[in-house]
Amino acid sequence: MKALLKVEDLSVSYFTYAGEVHSVRGISFEVEEGKTTALVGESGCGKSVTAKSLLGLIEKPGKVGDKSRIIYQGKEITGYTEKEWNEFRGKECSMVFQDALVSLNPTVKIGTQIEENLLNHEKSISKVEMKKRALNMLKLTGIPDSESCMKKYPHELSGGMRQRVMIACAMITNPKLLIADEPTTALDVTIQAQIIALMEELQEKLGMSIIIITHDLGVVADMADEIIVMYAGEIVERGTARDIFYNPEHPYTWALLQSVPRLDSEDKGILNTIEGNIPDMINPPKGCSFCGRCPYAMQICEEQAPQTTQITDQHSVACWLMDDRADRTNVPFGRKNL
Ligand code: SF4
Repeated sequence: MKALLKVEDLSVSYFTYAGEVHSVRGISFEVEEGKTTALVGESGCGKSVTAKSLLGLIEKPGKVGDKSRIIYQGKEITGYTEKEWNEFRGKECSMVFQDALVSLNPTVKIGTQIEENLLNHEKSISKVEMKKRALNMLKLTGIPDSESCMKKYPHELSGGMRQRVMIACAMITNPKLLIADEPTTALDVTIQAQIIALMEELQEKLGMSIIIITHDLGVVADMADEIIVMYAGEIVERGTARDIFYNPEHPYTWALLQSVPRLDSEDKGILNTIEGNIPDMINPPKGCSFCGRCPYAMQICEEQAPQTTQITDQHSVACWLMDDRADRTNVPFGRKNL
């Protein structure tokens, strides 16, 4: 399978009065054509900053590290000018945000907002064609009575319908990559499932790649081809959805899984939370970043950052528990002593 996007050694820092905040610290990954990659982690883990950097949206006091490389369809785009990023955004890659009510213009009718997105990238398009494509896109997102929806304002629609409109706005230019940042967080569970199903359906019809960003592993269980778990600006584990759900190896992934509601759980109704906070990103720990919150931490974890262990071609983990000398007797998932 061909990679649509390659990210190599991406770092992003924010220069504040308190010091340099290392938001993203040397991450590398690929997004394959027509596939879905999920970036998962708590807020502040660097997943949204990663997405912004892929769209050229890191503004001062933020800065993308000098060694970082973003390669799209074989071409390096890291150093794009503002004009080039403007052309790239929307045409090649679009983004759907969490809160449609904030992202949509409350004073402009839905139809006009979708048409404007199209016009930004196809200057010579006729009015008739623009209307036709906007309407078709709305229909594709499953909005009932799309024609009358075109004439409505965002506040006249439900949360789920507004999110469908956001997806229509993002997809109207037929981008090859859709980045969805917590697209279902503001919605109730049934509507969440509908929006995820819609994205999957559009992917099947239009063939785009998707990067979905979420704090909730449950949201991407059925959808993601690859799951990348991020913590404190680094990738701590990555694998197929099967690897992450059935053979997770990192204590942070275990903690995330234990905070996902499961129908087969014996502790019905009680969800675990992850105690503690992410470390100070101005002075990140020299050892493992999860050390201060990890129930399995060993002395080495404080002293040295763990290397990444490749378990299979697709599954890798950065944790000292993968070392032969580690005691794995009490780990809740994965293999016991290796
Ligand atoms: Fe926990 Fe150590 Fe693994 Fe970090 S390296 S996650 S502290 S066991």
